[in-house]
Amino acid sequence: MIRRVYLDNNATTPLLPEVAEAMHPYFGARFGNASSIHSHGQQTRAAVERARESVARLIGARPSEIVFTSGGTEADNLAVFGVVSGQRSALSHQQSHIVTSTIEHHAVLNACRHLETLGCEVSYVPVDAQGLVDPSDVRRALRPSTKLISIMMANNETGVVQPVAEIGAIAREADVYFHTDGVQAAGKIPVRVGDIGCDLLTISAHKLHGPQGVGALYVRKGTDLSAMLYGGRHERSRRAGTENVPGIVGFGAAAESALAGFERREGLKVAELRDRLERELMGIEACCVNGDGPRVPNTTNICFEGIDGEALVIALDLKGLAVSTGAACSSGAIEASHVLLAMGLTAEQARGSVRFSLGKMNSAKDVEFALSVVPETVKRLRELSPVWKELRASSHELRSTT
Ligand code: PLP
Repeated sequence: MIRRVYLDNNATTPLLPEVAEAMHPYFGARFGNASSIHSHGQQTRAAVERARESVARLIGARPSEIVFTSGGTEADNLAVFGVVSGQRSALSHQQSHIVTSTIEHHAVLNACRHLETLGCEVSYVPVDAQGLVDPSDVRRALRPSTKLISIMMANNETGVVQPVAEIGAIAREADVYFHTDGVQAAGKIPVRVGDIGCDLLTISAHKLHGPQGVGALYVRKGTDLSAMLYGGRHERSRRAGTENVPGIVGFGAAAESALAGFERREGLKVAELRDRLERELMGIEACCVNGDGPRVPNTTNICFEGIDGEALVIALDLKGLAVSTGAACSSGAIEASHVLLAMGLTAEQARGSVRFSLGKMNSAKDVEFALSVVPETVKRLRELSPVWKELRASSHELRSTT
């Protein structure tokens, strides 16, 4: 049987056994609707509220400030559309302005693009070659009509961590709401809403060893947020729809495990594995790390000049190694990553880049396996690549003329 090693934890993470165990009764005997007043409902309501406390603890929030959603995408959409449609603001859609960045996840970017079609104005602040937003660019982009700043905490493709506390201070000073997408940060680095100074923060269970299809939006008490779904008064009228009880229970268990992992300093082990992988891969000719700045401990995004990243992902999968070219939702698409292009890579360099994202289930043996297959696969693909031949020829030419 082929050995399989999973290094694509930014796409999704394996469910922890204790999370599966916590969820199990809620697929069977504990089936009540959490809004029902009889004992079946009370039992599931209590489980949902326990999970809310755990998720709140993970990010230093109050339980009443957690709104459960169907995932990170819905939470991002609720933050962006919910603030722009806020009831208390004198500004309508058409008069509103949002500040976001060029490297956001599509859940934020496409929500903003849709709002632009409705007349809302959006400023997309750039990033530098390390993939970092400059807080002074955010400050400069502010207008009297700015309703929301939405800048992610950690990027899904590079793992680069943004200066969110500085941006939070700018937002507070300007009296503008600040949303941060914490999907790739939660569970990997400490996330404290008070330290960030954000009004809204998105998290998703399946990125921290919880189930897929459940997430949460932190909504600071007093935030003027309109609900996006019309229905019952679930989640304190902020998100209508019967709660996904097994999913929420799993999210709570995953949050508890993440908190225990911080105490055991699991991030250090993951960082050591990532650093070793990165260091040894840098021994390959003509490759570099994209976003070699402050990063979450598990991610490295590497550009292998002269090859096609999709071809490398497929070739590695055939050998048993799962990695990715970037955002999971865009795999299969041939466009170059908007994140890497925004960092100044050429389309060719962006297409030749591959993301390795480790997790707490990975071991030194997994890294050794990756190191046993990546260099030889890169070499073989380069032998077949006309782009690589051209690059080699032009670098020979350069050397002989200097
Ligand atoms: N935001 C970021 C930064 C992500 O990485 C993802 C998922 O890849 C999402 C949002 C969307 O989360 P979900 O998959 O839970 O919808």
